Amino acid sequence: MDIISHTLTGVAVGTVIATISNGSWKRKSLIILIGGFGGALPDFDAISLWSKFDQTIGSLLNLDNSGKEIYFGKFWYSHHAALHSILAPIILILLSIIPYSIINKDLEISKIKANVIKRKYSILAFFFGFIFHLLEDMPTPASVWGGVNLFFPSSGYIGGFGKIWWWNNYDLVLIIFSVIVLNLLVNIIPKSYYFIKIRTSIVLFSLGLMLFLFQINTRAVNFSYSGHTTNYNNFESQSKLIQKEILGESLFNTMTKIDNKIPLNF
Ligand SMILES: [Zn+2]
Repeated sequence: MDIISHTLTGVAVGTVIATISNGSWKRKSLIILIGGFGGALPDFDAISLWSKFDQTIGSLLNLDNSGKEIYFGKFWYSHHAALHSILAPIILILLSIIPYSIINKDLEISKIKANVIKRKYSILAFFFGFIFHLLEDMPTPASVWGGVNLFFPSSGYIGGFGKIWWWNNYDLVLIIFSVIVLNLLVNIIPKSYYFIKIRTSIVLFSLGLMLFLFQINTRAVNFSYSGHTTNYNNFESQSKLIQKEILGESLFNTMTKIDNKIPLNF
């Protein structure tokens, strides 16, 4: 799935956790931003596809394989590998806590624990934003990876179901965006309605999730392929045709215009 959908999903996760946090708007904004960051981060492993990768990182690390070979390969640092696992956010969270504790000379377990509790909402937003990215990558085609390496260091890959195309899933983006907007509105409600707010936020997210699952499971086209496909452009145009049918001509054209303005696959 594309980086914009993933980032927005992390933001949506962040809005739910922001409601639960019941903090100031400053704290809530930080939680939402961290959720978005967690949603985007797994695709950092696509850096090997960067046009200057071989001259820079590749040569610095004296790598035997080209960036393209790494990206489409099965190395632990390939796309959809270690950085697309449950272990990755756990390690990253630990790495973010330990240096902070060293700087503040708070290396006692009780103080580290207190620090984690203090930052629990940001940690949760990051973790679940990250995990939802991994789940969203599973319904895309198997291609060379066959899903994501969810339980790294185990070598198994999960997903590659071919239920949706890699990008241009505008219907899904609109669902995610609606969840964000509605949950931000929930956050405007006064703090005294805390429990109603939490329930509403979770219900809105769950409804969005159900609608999302309904949409990906009712595509009229099977996008499954493994390895590389000569049918790539045909799949892409079929995916766009599905979007036109779902959204109608006018909304589809608006989404296409937005898509064309964004210099990323969307
Ligand atoms: Zn990904």
